[in-house]
Amino acid sequence: ISIQGLRKVFKTKTNTITAVDRLDLDIQDGEIFGVIGYSGAGKSTFVRLLNRLEEPSEGSIKIDDKEITELNTNELRLARQEIGMIFQHFNLLWSRTIEDNIAFPLEIAGVPKAERDKRVEELIRLVGLAGRENAYPSQLSGGQKQRVGIARALANNPKVLLCDEATSALDPETTNSILDLLVDINQKLGLTIILITHEMHVIRKICNRVAVMENGKIVEQGDVLDVFLHP
Ligand code: ADP
Ligand code: ADP
Repeated sequence: ISIQGLRKVFKTKTNTITAVDRLDLDIQDGEIFGVIGYSGAGKSTFVRLLNRLEEPSEGSIKIDDKEITELNTNELRLARQEIGMIFQHFNLLWSRTIEDNIAFPLEIAGVPKAERDKRVEELIRLVGLAGRENAYPSQLSGGQKQRVGIARALANNPKVLLCDEATSALDPETTNSILDLLVDINQKLGLTIILITHEMHVIRKICNRVAVMENGKIVEQGDVLDVFLHP
């Protein structure tokens, strides 16, 4: 992933906010990359630009040499299948069972039922939820809900997984088990993980490299040990 001069400006009635300010960044294939910063630093906007939930004001985002700021609607739909995302509050569909939540992106992608069922079963095993297929999200713990979120995000076999404060609503023990699962997935599937958080210990536990964001800018980046040991 290669990002150059990325900028996002929000204009409201009363003011103009530059949430992401001429950001340059390269993220390698298969790494676990952390983005850390205080609330309001622009982290969410940054990851939302990566899967085009937000439209950039300026700049370039290349994923595998494909410029994703210039895709048409159909290309964008396909590109989104290559980028999974998980959220702080899980964003599950509360009226659907666990297996139907995980099947949802496959249905949208038009995957036939038999293939869908097989894929859902694999995903349920991968995230450690075997036996809970027919439960509803309200019947699960926070950690289990995030496991469903992860399975759903992986359904279409993405190249990149974006994690937006994915453990911020969880207790420390559950946080650790979800981080272990992310490492496991990174190793098994070789996909790139971008993890945004305001918690340093989360970055320390699983990230290879980190960027520190402040006021929409990256103020420091490098190997986790270098960035955190040298103030
Ligand atoms: P973080 O994820 O680091 O907390 P955000 O990306 O959510 O930061 O926000 C960065 C800045 O952009 C904040 O000042 C926020 O209020 C502003 N912002 C984010 N989204 C919008 C929006 N849709 N409209 C206006 N301002 C926004
Ligand atoms: P986060 O947990 O990432 O900090 P926020 O509560 O900042 O999330 O943002 C939630 C949603 O509200 C996002 O879609 C974001 O773009 C939008 N948002 C954030 N700040 C503003 C703002 N100042 N004006 C309008 N929308 C905003």
